[in-house]
Amino acid sequence: MLTLQDVEVRYGSIQALSGVSLQVHDGEVVALIGANGAGKTTTLRAVSGLVRPARGKILFGDADLSRLPADQIAAMGISHVPEGRAIFANLTVLENLRLATFSRRDRRQVQEDIERVFSLLPRLAERRHQNAGTLSGGEQQMLAIGRALMLRGRIMLLDEPSMGLAPVLVAEIFRLLREINRQGTTLLLVEQNARMALALATRGYVLENGRVVLSGPSAELMANPAVAEAYLGAA
Ligand code: ATP
Repeated sequence: MLTLQDVEVRYGSIQALSGVSLQVHDGEVVALIGANGAGKTTTLRAVSGLVRPARGKILFGDADLSRLPADQIAAMGISHVPEGRAIFANLTVLENLRLATFSRRDRRQVQEDIERVFSLLPRLAERRHQNAGTLSGGEQQMLAIGRALMLRGRIMLLDEPSMGLAPVLVAEIFRLLREINRQGTTLLLVEQNARMALALATRGYVLENGRVVLSGPSAELMANPAVAEAYLGAA
């Protein structure tokens, strides 16, 4: 479904990705793990068209995304939940969700999608008229995911959805992601919380200094002593 072939990204003189290749198949959950600065966020930004690769191909089905503008990529069914959530603090929960659909004319369908988001996220349903800025961190993260769901993407890119959340909320976010995947959305998940990410994912890739250094089924990665030591907090 999504294939990166030898993707390089530079920010000025900084080489953020030095030839990343990876694949995400339809229906999968794939985890991308790695230390700070490894290039995880940049990988997602390259897929979404927020940065341009200097080299390499990014294929979504047969289409090469690497020269397309971000809005066109989103319209093809790729939704991105960025790091730091980027919700509109002065708008209500409902307004944030509606904003994601401003270009859609199918009002009944939009209403159904909103109900779907609220059924997946009952906490948001209760707070639909609350300003997003007054939501807790976990609720804001749920709203960011809810907004991506409104785009009806085929694949969702998630950048550190567990960041800064208490363990009980992290567990709730991961339950939500599992359910979203079960309902048919493919997930590419960037996480520092490698243990949770690999528990959810079918496969994973480990990035170091802009390169994939390891990949495989999640269980295999979790059993790998180097991964356990570096990313799972084991001795
Ligand atoms: P983290 O887990 O800390 O978010 P990451 O794996 O997501 O890290 P990236 O954010 O992709 O890493 O960054 C990869 C490299 O690119 C880093 O060295 C970073 O400093 C650099 N970088 C990222 N964005 C920019 C930018 N806009 N300008 C210059 N350098 C950048």
